Amino acid sequence: SKSWTMVRHFEGAPKPEDFKLEERELPSLKDGEILLESVFLSVDPYMRPYSKRMMKPGDVMIGSQVARVVESKKPAVVVGTYYVANVGWTTHFISDGTGMHALSLDWPENLPRSLSLGAVGMPGCTAYIGLLEVCNAKEGEVVLVNCAAGAVGSIVGQIAKIKGCKVVGSAGSDDKVTYLKEIGFDEAFNYKTVSSLEEALKNASPEGYDCYFENVGGKYADVALQQMNQFGRIAVCGAISMYNDSVPQTGPYIQPVMLFKQLRMEGFICYRWIDKFPDMQKQLLQWVSEGKLKYHEHVTNGFENMPAGFIGMLRGDNIGKAIIKV
Ligand code: NDP
Repeated sequence: SKSWTMVRHFEGAPKPEDFKLEERELPSLKDGEILLESVFLSVDPYMRPYSKRMMKPGDVMIGSQVARVVESKKPAVVVGTYYVANVGWTTHFISDGTGMHALSLDWPENLPRSLSLGAVGMPGCTAYIGLLEVCNAKEGEVVLVNCAAGAVGSIVGQIAKIKGCKVVGSAGSDDKVTYLKEIGFDEAFNYKTVSSLEEALKNASPEGYDCYFENVGGKYADVALQQMNQFGRIAVCGAISMYNDSVPQTGPYIQPVMLFKQLRMEGFICYRWIDKFPDMQKQLLQWVSEGKLKYHEHVTNGFENMPAGFIGMLRGDNIGKAIIKV
């Protein structure tokens, strides 16, 4: 089995030399165990802040993957079936079946199983929860989402359209903006090239914003908060603009607009709704099958290129979900 480990804690943006490829022999299977091999692995922004909170140098990088059963000494588990497992950046592993969930046996033939790491997996559920549970977005309201062309943001915007909202998205390249228009965003802009974020937000929605799905944090949030409508809701999903900071940025703290506009801001972690994941995933898969929810994947080929895929995603190379294909 091959695994990528973290050599040292990252300082600033992760660099290739922060990762090491290690190989080890796996023992033979005992009764009740299964051997799986990875097919698709996920690289996600949370790995950057969580590496600091959860890992020590030498640990295998954290993360989820779609894996195929290659050997089974567990009667209930059939060779050739697929699981989503949270076992880190590793090509082969032995499991007794706990802590994994099986992909449905009738997974649609025309859809890649990697969707269970993206539009139909954790990022899709995060979009669903943040928009519908935390922001409680209603028909006719205006929704703002940043990182809009990414795994979570692209789904947020499309669910908002399904629910009858107006959607504004920002992303970091013109190609991403074109993509956002293609998948139905009402307005989209490149936050890196606009001369004023405030003007761009005002132009995109002169009527302000009722819901703000926050993925970026920092200075972006300071500007966007000012554009909120009375009783606006802000779902704080991420703060990627600050994940690489060694010294936390300090901002203007709590702004008077929170009070005057009676805003509600809530940070959330998708796993608080883990019991609802199966129902949400069913709904997301149905929307994808019906063509109501478009997906895009940014695929990096080869397990050996996993650090490059991770670094590239943090830099913004991806449209849609960043995936590693073994
Ligand atoms: P994405 O697919 O959106 O990929 C990350 C994107 O972040 C990049 O493509 C880049 O897009 C953008 N980015 C990178 N650096 C910056 C920066 N300094 N300022 C602004 N944008 C930047 O990732 P995900 O969809 O998986 O995640 C999006 C957010 O959601 C992250 O903040 C993540 O932590 C959060 N999240 C939270 C969860 C929860 O339970 N709360 C669960 C899953 C994700 P661009 O070119 O547009 O800059």
